[in-house]
Amino acid sequence: MPFYIYIAVYLFIGIILSFFGKAAREINNEIKDLKHPDIDRLIDEGHIYAPHKYFLFEFTMRMFLLILWPFLYTILLIDFINESRGTEDDKILEECRYEREAGLFFSSMGGAGEITCRECGYHQHLVSFIHSFPIDKWNQSGYQCQRCGLFHEIENAHQYKGKLKCYCGGSLSRDKVLFCPVYKSKNLKYEMEYVT
Ligand SMILES: [Zn+2]
Ligand SMILES: [Zn+2]
Repeated sequence: MPFYIYIAVYLFIGIILSFFGKAAREINNEIKDLKHPDIDRLIDEGHIYAPHKYFLFEFTMRMFLLILWPFLYTILLIDFINESRGTEDDKILEECRYEREAGLFFSSMGGAGEITCRECGYHQHLVSFIHSFPIDKWNQSGYQCQRCGLFHEIENAHQYKGKLKCYCGGSLSRDKVLFCPVYKSKNLKYEMEYVT
């Protein structure tokens, strides 16, 4: 294929991309801002551009894109990859932060597993809620003493009608945020081992 065909194809793609696509949209927005500057920009620059100035600007930008589109699109692609990677990390961070702030509740822990204190490393096996089939025959649920922090696994707790006490005399709850029995930290994590 003769060389000029490559050039023609290259320029053809350039022409298309200087009017359509992400980079062209950014140029369009920039030109719109120049023609109708918002109040901040007016204060910043102190004047509205003469029409031939933004025509010149538009022409330069489109020529620039027409000729250098592979470079501009490479930059846009790299930006896009970095951005999506960034948001992925942000999401995980956000989840961690939420988990730490909200704390751990029995209601959000399925089955049985292990809790670990992120601060002192204390860990223990714990039943959150397990049951037989049918469900009303037998069940076992986790409670925590609100005074000493000891965890209890109580069978058929409904029969006690909320009058559950720890050995220390403190009341048991399964509605409150769990805390580490050692230093009372609420920064706990739960890893489920099995569910029934
Ligand atoms: Zn701890
Ligand atoms: Zn207790």
